[in-house]
Amino acid sequence: MEVFDNKDTFLAVGHYQPGSIAVRILSFKEIVPDTDFFRERIRSALTYRKFLGLIDSKNTNVYRLIHAEGDDLPGLIIDYYNGVAVMQMHSIGMYRLRNEFAGILRELIGERLIAVYDKSEETIPYMSGIKAKNEFLYGSSERVEVTENGFRFLVDWAFSQKTGFFIDQRENRNLLNLYTDGRDVLNMFGYTGGFSVYAMKNARMVHTVDSSASATGMANENIKLNFGDDTRHEAFKTSAFEFLNDIKNKYDLIILDPPAFAKHNKVLTNALQGYKRLNIKAIEQIRPGGIIFTFSCSQVVTKENFRKSVFAAAANTGRRVRILHQLSQPPDHPVNIYHPESEYLKGLVLYVE
Ligand code: SAH
Repeated sequence: MEVFDNKDTFLAVGHYQPGSIAVRILSFKEIVPDTDFFRERIRSALTYRKFLGLIDSKNTNVYRLIHAEGDDLPGLIIDYYNGVAVMQMHSIGMYRLRNEFAGILRELIGERLIAVYDKSEETIPYMSGIKAKNEFLYGSSERVEVTENGFRFLVDWAFSQKTGFFIDQRENRNLLNLYTDGRDVLNMFGYTGGFSVYAMKNARMVHTVDSSASATGMANENIKLNFGDDTRHEAFKTSAFEFLNDIKNKYDLIILDPPAFAKHNKVLTNALQGYKRLNIKAIEQIRPGGIIFTFSCSQVVTKENFRKSVFAAAANTGRRVRILHQLSQPPDHPVNIYHPESEYLKGLVLYVE
C-alpha cells in the first residue's frame, strides 16, 4: 500500500497489517514493489554476502542471506544452510510473495540451491487469520550438515527453534576459543551445542545445559560429529535457574545465552531483572579468574540497559569485574542505519577476579 500524510503528500510504499508496526516500509519512492524490485533487493543482499566472503568460503557454508530491515526487506528472514534456504516471514505482505522469493533464489543462486523451506507457521501474526503451513516451496531435503569456521553441525530446520541454528553467534563462538584453553566450561542455554563444539577444541571439560531434550540430544550429536565419543562433554536437560543454584567454583568459563526475556516494551523491567538475577548467579559462583560470556537477544533491551543489568549483578556480588569485550551480531545480520532496532544481539565478556 501507499502511505500519505494528512496533506495528501506521498510518503512511502510498504506492507500494511494490523499490529504494533502498522506499515513495514519498502521504499520512500513512488515505486511498484514488483518482482524486479524484490529481485534487485535480494541480489544486493547476495552481493553483500559475497563481499563478506561468506558465499565462497571454504570453512563456512551457513549464513543469513536476508536480515529483514537490515537488508531493506522488512518482515523477511532467509537463512542459508549448505544449499537449503529456510525462510521466515513476519508479515502477511512478505508471506504472500513466498513463491516469488523461492523463484528469485533459484534464479540467483542456481544449482547450489537444493531446497527452499518456508517456516512461517509460528511467525505470521495470528490476527491476520492466515494459517501458514511449514513446507518446502522448492525441492526437499532431510536435515543437513553445515560447516561453520571449520566446525561441523547438524541443522534440522523442521524440528528446532527459529530457522534451525543460531547463526548470529558465529563470531562470538570464534572469540570464545581464545579463552577455552584448559578451562572447565559451562554452556548455559546451550541449544544444539554451538558454543560447546567450539569450546571442546581446547577445554578441559564442557557442560551443555538446556531445558529442551531435543536441544541437548542434538548438542550430543554435534559433539560426536566433531570429537567422537569424548567424555569431556556432558549435556544436561534441566532448567537453567535450577542448575545455577549449585555451581560454586565448578567452572572457570560460563556462557549465558538465554532466549529473549522481553519481546515487548511492557515486560522490559521484568526482563532486566531476569538478566540481573541470571548474571548474579554466574558472577558470584565462577572460579577466581573466570570468564563469562553473557548475552541478550531481546530487541527492546538496549546495549545500555543490558550493561546496567550486568553492572547491577556485578555490584551485587561485590567481586571485581572487568569488561574484556563488547559483542554484537555478525555482518550477515546487518544493522540498517535508519533502523537502529535491527541491532538486537548484545554481549559482554567479563573477567571475574
Ligand atoms: N547459545 C545457543 C542459542 C541459545 S537459544 C547457540 O549458540 O546456538 C536459547 C536456548 O535456551 C534454547 O535452546 C531454549 O531451549 C533454552 N531455554 C529456554 N529457557 C530455558 C531455561 N529456563 N533453562 C534452560 N534452557 C532454557
